[in-house]
Amino acid sequence: MGVRNKNAFSIRFWGVRGSIPCANSEYMSYGGNTSCVQISIPDIEEFIILDCGSGIRKLGDQLALDTNKFSGKIFVTHGHWDHIQGFPFFKPVYCDDRNIEIFFPHKHNGDCKRAMTTQLTPSHFPVTPEMLNATIDYIDFKKEILYFNGFEVSYKQAAHPVNTAMFKIVIDGKTIVYAPDNELDLQSKSRFLKSFREFIKDVDVLIHDANFDRQSYSTKQNWGHSAWEDVVEIAAQCNVKNLFLTHHDPTSTDDIMDVRAKLLTAFNEKFESVQFAKESTTFDF
Ligand SMILES: [Zn+2]
Ligand SMILES: [Zn+2]
Repeated sequence: MGVRNKNAFSIRFWGVRGSIPCANSEYMSYGGNTSCVQISIPDIEEFIILDCGSGIRKLGDQLALDTNKFSGKIFVTHGHWDHIQGFPFFKPVYCDDRNIEIFFPHKHNGDCKRAMTTQLTPSHFPVTPEMLNATIDYIDFKKEILYFNGFEVSYKQAAHPVNTAMFKIVIDGKTIVYAPDNELDLQSKSRFLKSFREFIKDVDVLIHDANFDRQSYSTKQNWGHSAWEDVVEIAAQCNVKNLFLTHHDPTSTDDIMDVRAKLLTAFNEKFESVQFAKESTTFDF
């Protein structure tokens, strides 16, 4: 029997900002583009993308150079602007020989297409859905496990003001959970926290909302976002191996993030790795 010594997958962060792109110089270390993560699996040609924030623009430019890896799948957590706004700037959608499948958590039939194309109306943008030349399948993703070549995907509903998925992706026995918009209220007695703990138990990689710190969260409950300290606490209790904190608030400049990153080092022992996600960084697992 051969021993596999290559990585099961890699993760690249193309956008880690929440709410709105931040283009000013004080955001350049952590990055100003909104949510977009790419997962690459060795030997699998198609692209796998989580969310279509503004970070997907640069990813699309790169994919446009590599004709072999042009078709693929995009999993969109929800329809908030910061998770879809990069879609019209993703070059592959304009190429007629490409297939793109977009998966969106199902609530009502047609949600996926509505979420992705409502921005493509004349009052918002000059491009209409008919002008996208790629073959695009808009798929309302019901709560089930979808099995693909080399990976499987399922999801759990997030604690967020609108229908929002937290995706679980399993690749070669390793598990990633992607939850960029999810509120963990440690004071809450709801069953959600218990089921969330089960959902993330023992995962290899957790990419989670850390929009706030505890102080700012105290006045922003029910906004649908978490304090980074709470995420770290729960993730450590649930034996998460590698934790990436993401969806940084537009008020969180690099200076603020650096202060938090120093505080975060106190938890290094609890994980194989723990960090605030930075744009344009790649990790192998
Ligand atoms: Zn968001
Ligand atoms: Zn949101």
